[in-house]
Amino acid sequence: MSATCTKALPMPYAKKRYFVFGLVTIIALSLPFITIGGNHFFLLSFAKKQLHLFFTAFDMQEMYLMPFLLIMLFLGVFFMTTLGGRVWCGWTCPQTIFRVIYRDLIQTKLLGIRKNIKNKQKEPTGQMLKRILGGLIWVILALIAASNFTWYFVPPEDFFVYLQDPSEHMVLFGFVLGISGFLIYDIIKLKEDFCIYVCPYARVQSVMYDDDTIQTVYNPTRGGKIYDEGGVKLWKKPPEPESECTGCEACVRVCPTHIDIRKGMQLECINCLECADACTKVMGALGKESLITWTSEKEAVRGDKTKFIRFRTIGYAVALSIAFGMLLFMSGKKEYMLLNINRTTQLYKIRDKGKQVDNAYTFLFQNTDSKDHTYYFEVDNPDIYISRPAKPFKLKAGKKAKKIVILSTKKTLSSKKPNPIIITAYAKDDKKKIIVTRPSTFVYPKKALIEKAKNK
Ligand code: SF4
Ligand code: SF4
Repeated sequence: MSATCTKALPMPYAKKRYFVFGLVTIIALSLPFITIGGNHFFLLSFAKKQLHLFFTAFDMQEMYLMPFLLIMLFLGVFFMTTLGGRVWCGWTCPQTIFRVIYRDLIQTKLLGIRKNIKNKQKEPTGQMLKRILGGLIWVILALIAASNFTWYFVPPEDFFVYLQDPSEHMVLFGFVLGISGFLIYDIIKLKEDFCIYVCPYARVQSVMYDDDTIQTVYNPTRGGKIYDEGGVKLWKKPPEPESECTGCEACVRVCPTHIDIRKGMQLECINCLECADACTKVMGALGKESLITWTSEKEAVRGDKTKFIRFRTIGYAVALSIAFGMLLFMSGKKEYMLLNINRTTQLYKIRDKGKQVDNAYTFLFQNTDSKDHTYYFEVDNPDIYISRPAKPFKLKAGKKAKKIVILSTKKTLSSKKPNPIIITAYAKDDKKKIIVTRPSTFVYPKKALIEKAKNK
């Protein structure tokens, strides 16, 4: 039977994936260079003890945001997997993107080491020079990828300065070389075995699947049964005349993880949809729809509509929204300055023949904002004034300063117990936003001691 296909084939998933890969790569490479007010979208700087999130800098003492981020990460993974299966693996995972770059772009398209992009089973042999050249190109790309990853921990503005004197930053560049080394081994030697045996996500994702989860599915009702329930292959092409699978095995040859999707859902499937593209072409030539589609098992096998809004997905969406709301709420509580007040060991000092009493404190200021500020403070008790420091002082962005503060009074205060005071510290140039209050005490000596000082 010969059939001519008149219907235009849908755009291959491969093309759509390449577009997404490009987009993800551009975002990953450019994001560390984008700053607003000196802050990054995401930066976890151990050197500066800072977390930058959504272009806001948080000090290490404000790390209460980290659990919310981790909760969101886990909930996001559960939500995404329940809804779209291994959509992350096929569309955005760096491992998949790197393998496509190395295998399909460098080895196949650029150097012609692999003869056919549609056959990912056959490993290239011979052509040693070209293979070495392909490896060298990947080494350069692995160094760029490792540096790009590092920029989320050491921002590019510091990274390129450190690069001029690598001997002073051995740990950093050892880290970059270590990641590069791993990427070289992973992409050239380990290949998709990383997805099958190493990646922890592959182990856990199957428990999040249900009948409505979108995945790569072969339709045995139309195509015919190829494997029995025990996973034993019965035949290459089903014998029933109504079974549409031609047994061409284009879907098997193209699979980067070397599986046969006609066996059903398997842990090894990374959802790359290469098999769906292959079958679309084969079936398209016969004027038929692909036997392998990106849909739910329920829709492909039973013909029922996929339910996207279901108990599990609603649950994850609600939990995710709550975690995001909490993150926004907590990040809104950010303090742009930190202040710790400690009293010194000396309770008070009587001066000027009992006319003045001083209390000394140690104030530890920290400017957690991305700009320099000039700070000063006030005491809520009008009988107490600041003797030292006499003037406001400047603190650079992110810096700390220890100040010895002397508060004094010329009035008679209660000596029965320490007098409670409220200290309000603020940035003189932005008092509305940068202001903190701390409680403390002022100790006044007993009357007899004042009298004794008067008579000295
Ligand atoms: S590509 Fe389609 S027709 Fe060919 S073996 Fe695979 S499922 Fe059958
Ligand atoms: S079966 Fe193979 S080719 Fe098909 S989506 Fe899974 S990993 Fe990709």
